[in-house]
Amino acid sequence: MFDTLSDRLAATFKSLRGKGRLSEQDIDATCREIRIALLEADVALPAVRQFVAAVKQRSLGAEVSQALNPAQQVVKIVNEELISILGGQTRRIRFAKRPPTVIMLAGLQGSGKTTLAGKLGHWLKGQGHSPLLVAADLQRPNAVTQLQVVGERAGVAVFAPEPGNATGRTPTDGHSGDPIKVARDSLQHARDKMYDVVVVDTAGRLGIDAELMRQAADIRDAVGPDEILFVVDAMIGQDAVATAQAFLDGVGFDGVVLTKLDGDARGGAALSVAQMTGRQVMFASNGEKLDDFDVFHPDRMASRILGMGDVLSLIEQAERTFDAQQAEQMARKIMGGDQFTLDDFLSQMEQLRKLGSMQKILGMLPGMAEMRQQLNQIDEKEIDRVSAIIRSMTPAERQDPKILNGSRRARIARGSGVSVSAVNNLVERFFEAQKAMRTMTRGGIPGIPGFGPG
Ligand code: GDP
Repeated sequence: MFDTLSDRLAATFKSLRGKGRLSEQDIDATCREIRIALLEADVALPAVRQFVAAVKQRSLGAEVSQALNPAQQVVKIVNEELISILGGQTRRIRFAKRPPTVIMLAGLQGSGKTTLAGKLGHWLKGQGHSPLLVAADLQRPNAVTQLQVVGERAGVAVFAPEPGNATGRTPTDGHSGDPIKVARDSLQHARDKMYDVVVVDTAGRLGIDAELMRQAADIRDAVGPDEILFVVDAMIGQDAVATAQAFLDGVGFDGVVLTKLDGDARGGAALSVAQMTGRQVMFASNGEKLDDFDVFHPDRMASRILGMGDVLSLIEQAERTFDAQQAEQMARKIMGGDQFTLDDFLSQMEQLRKLGSMQKILGMLPGMAEMRQQLNQIDEKEIDRVSAIIRSMTPAERQDPKILNGSRRARIARGSGVSVSAVNNLVERFFEAQKAMRTMTRGGIPGIPGFGPG
């Protein structure tokens, strides 16, 4: 996700490095490159135009700054504009003053609504809420069962019509298969059983049609949602904007959830939908597991696109996975570049393995954008190899890898059964990571020499 965009922007900024002053031509050329980068990422044209115009205007008018050179100023402007196009501030769920808070999910079939209901329930539970998932998708044959499975996995209650008589609580009143009644009844059920958040999963279709919109609007009117979330598959690219517009007109929505960000998407949906609909992306899904889901933070996403990493999300993820003390220790190490040793590297790597795939995690660390090629090739066996190499080092070598001369490296290679170049490679990578962390700690941007104050 966003890989091409990241790479292109990095190349653009690289060509500005070392320039003492930017001429109007420099800025024009840079804006052209940014425009191409965005179009290639499948960002909607009007959004691209607006973005580039803003960057150009601000770059031309940029104040001569003591602290930043012109190239750095352009990076700063692009960062701020990215945050803005992604929606600015993080938008959180508005909970109702009097529970239950009603969250309604709308979107095309296959966009990931049912999966999302489970993730949302799981997440809400983690936040101390007591959620109820409601199966108001009675169109798709398996939808009710699917929601029940998802709910069970998440440990969250599901309100569903009973088989053969789709009315939920009251099997005798004859509203068989009426999703609106199910939705309405679920609210009473939530009040009775003290659920404080109700997540209503609605039916979708493969395409936008009047019937779909009418049913969604009827459910909306029946439950009076506090939040309508439009769920959209990030992989549909440009179509996301048209679909979003249709749902905005037909049902209306308050926020957007992007799903399948783990797919081979160029990311255009994320960069277009907020801007084009004026509704913010609130959550993002990036996998099929319950945990592959997070609050969407425009600033962190911008930081990732610019290769500046997303240490905050990594730390939050660690907090969810480990106890507070372990997480704090890890955060201190990651943020405190200087004391970060190979021993830490090793223990972190083994802890990190509990967090998820190495590729995902390393992608969140600062300075990793330029190493994406290698990242994509990481296999989990690599971790075993790296562990073996570090374990073959003496404690002194782990504390201070600078002492690793040729003969030491040869000994380590023999000890761990790898080639000397594998040892060299690891040591180099470690130094890179250490450097990037140090730059970040001082508030700089890795990969851009001189960007940090230090
Ligand atoms: P619905 O028709 O809108 O309810 O969509 P579903 O929740 O049934 O999802 C459709 C398919 O997309 C299912 O196979 C899900 O497992 C898959 N899916 C949902 N969210 C994600 C995601 O974030 N990443 C990936 N890779 N797959 C997803």
